[in-house]
Order: sequence, then structure tokens, then C-alpha cells
Amino acid sequence: MPLEQPTEERSAELISLFDEIQQQVNAAASDRASGDKPRLVAVSKLKPASDILALYQHGVRHFGENYPQELVDKAKELPSDIEWHFIGALQSNKAKMLASIPNLFALETLTSIKSANHLHNTLSSLSPPRTTPLNVFLQLNTSSEPQKAGLAPSASADSDLLALATHIVEKCPTLRLRGLMTIGSFESSTADGELNPDFEVLVKAREELVEELRRKVGSNEEFDAVVKEGLELSMGMSEDFAQAIRQGSSNVRVGSKIFGKRPPRGV
Ligand SMILES: *Cc1c(COP(=O)(O)O)cnc(C)c1O
Repeated sequence: MPLEQPTEERSAELISLFDEIQQQVNAAASDRASGDKPRLVAVSKLKPASDILALYQHGVRHFGENYPQELVDKAKELPSDIEWHFIGALQSNKAKMLASIPNLFALETLTSIKSANHLHNTLSSLSPPRTTPLNVFLQLNTSSEPQKAGLAPSASADSDLLALATHIVEKCPTLRLRGLMTIGSFESSTADGELNPDFEVLVKAREELVEELRRKVGSNEEFDAVVKEGLELSMGMSEDFAQAIRQGSSNVRVGSKIFGKRPPRGV
């Protein structure tokens, strides 16, 4: 089936919204000494492929999706140089279908060794194999809300976070430990304090994790690479991306401020 093209009107609307957000992203990052620009991921879940195509034709490549089947379907029909991010709840039995998407750029919601193993096993048996390792972010529950997914934000010697990070580096060469990801609470994102406390928790967790990984440098050259490259922070959504960038985010995930309100799921 040929891909449905966006209307000119919808294209113009999406491009203008995207450019607006991109400008705000750049402005929030403008005082970074490093000059590093955060990556803006356009979160297109529950939006039609034609919306994605409109932004693709404008040069956008990073898109985020939450539902495995929806991502698989979109990846099949949309251009193969899109860099997809999976940002939804990851069930280990869905790891295989996600790892089979050749242009999956990052899986941002890894929380278990079991899922890491599923990903690695699938990636190891792909033909043709991927040319680069799959980037993974470990999701942390920085707001300690029971309904939110994620590991506890501690990298102490006996933590699940350190165990998973170490497992990936030592046992899963098809995966690249790229960073940490969080959502944070609604309250924290809308409070008018100077700093979002949940984002601060993610910043501290990264510090602690890199420190622990530094101790392992020398035992396996993969640790040297991770410590040298550093770890990214994926934090910030429509309501709080500018604040997240001011607190050091390198990857913001913006949906409704670009694509508009989402339809309810399953309708
Ligand atoms: C839906 C979603 C987003 C985008 O949310 P908006 O508030 O629409 O920008 C970002 N991150 C995750 C994990 C999401 O599920």
C-alpha cells in the first residue's frame, strides 16, 4: 500500500510547531559551555504515519514510539533512515520484535537483565547483522511513584542499576550503554521551584553510576569506552523539556507540543 502523504496544511502546521520547539530547545541549551545540542525526539505515538512523513520531509530523523506493534508497523512503511526510539513500557517478550527493527536507534526503557539478554540474543542472530550496537538507556524511577516503571536511582555496589549496567557492558556486546532515562512526576514538572527534583535525582544517579563504572576500568576494555564517552540523560517532555535541558538533559522527548493532543488509545 503506498504511504499516505500529509496534506499541505498539516505539513505546514507540524513544521511550524516542530521549528518552534527546536528553537526553544536551542535557547535552553544556549549557555552550555560545551556547545552540545540536546537531541529532540519527536514522540509520534498514536499519530498517523503521514504526520511523521511531514516532519521527515522537513529533515527530522529522530522519532519516539511507545507501543511495539505500532513501531514495527511504522518502521516498515516509513523511510529506513529514520532513527527510532522506543520509549514505552518494555515487556521482555516484546524485546525480540523491537530488536529486529534495523533502524531502531535507541531503546530507552530498559530495566532488567532478562530483557537485556533477550535483546542481545536477538541482535546476535540477526541476518544481516546491525552495523552498530543498539543504544540502550536504563529507565530510573526518580519520583518513586509506584505506577511508574524504572529502577531505583541508586548505583551503590549492590544496586540493580549497577548490576544491569555491568551486565550490559560485560555480557551484551550488541548493546551500547548510552545513558539513563526518566519521566519524573507531574508535580515535579509543574512546580515552580528552581530545579526539578526528579531531574536532579537522575543527574546524581549518573554521577554515581559513572563513578562505580570507573572502578571497573581495566577489567574489561568496554568499561573504558563507556567511562570515556560518558552517559547521556534522557529527560524532559512537552511540559518540562526546557527545564530538563537547563539541568543537563541530552535527549528530550516531545510529543503533544509538536503533534497536538493524542487520541485515546485503541480508538
Ligand atoms: C508520551 C511520552 C512522551 C511525550 O509526552 P508529551 O507530554 O506528549 O510530550 C515522552 N516520554 C515518554 C516516556 C512518553 O511515554
